Amino acid sequence: MVLPIELNARQEKIVEIVKDYGPITGEQIAEQLDLTRATLRPDLAILTMAGYLDARPRVGYFYTGKTSAQLLTEKIRQIKVKDYLSLPVVVQEASTVYDAICTMFLEDVGTLFVVDKGAKLAGVLSRKDLLRASMGNQELNSIPVSIIMTRMPNITVCTKEDYLIEVAEKLIDKQIDAVPVIKGTDDEDAYEVIGRITKTNITKALVDFSGDAII
Ligand code: ADP
Repeated sequence: MVLPIELNARQEKIVEIVKDYGPITGEQIAEQLDLTRATLRPDLAILTMAGYLDARPRVGYFYTGKTSAQLLTEKIRQIKVKDYLSLPVVVQEASTVYDAICTMFLEDVGTLFVVDKGAKLAGVLSRKDLLRASMGNQELNSIPVSIIMTRMPNITVCTKEDYLIEVAEKLIDKQIDAVPVIKGTDDEDAYEVIGRITKTNITKALVDFSGDAII
């Protein structure tokens, strides 16, 4: 459900009444506004679901004391990797630098993940890794990517259940553009790559949450 951050005039009034008189029943709020309980019901539902008010059965409505900025921050902190991940693009360790460059162009991504024969995460290739390897080098068709990639265990990873904001902090901290999403296991040699989070995914989340709605 999409909930407004900006409250309309009636919702603002309801919040003011609950602030001053809470706990207060829906009936009593309706009386103060000279409206029916039925007319108020959608506004009360929105205010409760958005987190401005708390409703306790047989007691009434309480003001939670949270501002719209606090509520938005809470929502952003709850976004998980699984809500925004993209499909990973992988190449084999034995692939050549030339093949990796072609894959990067064809798949239109900025980071490739490298997997070993058992399809487990072995390394990462960025645009600059491939550019660096290409500069003045005529042998791109014979150099395997395993020679130039950043390799395990030096790869920053995340899981589907991690919070997106934590991954965003890792991208900034480590000065990288993407993180592979791996299937949870403690064995670093057995990471299965199931997705990727890049700066683009995080930008998308930011845009989704910057409109006039919280989800
Ligand atoms: P670029 O090098 O094109 O600016 P990045 O900033 O993503 O792209 O990469 C910088 C370096 O960090 C590269 O050498 C790359 O191999 C490495 N790198 C990229 N992603 C990761 C990651 N998730 N974990 C560890 N190293 C990474």
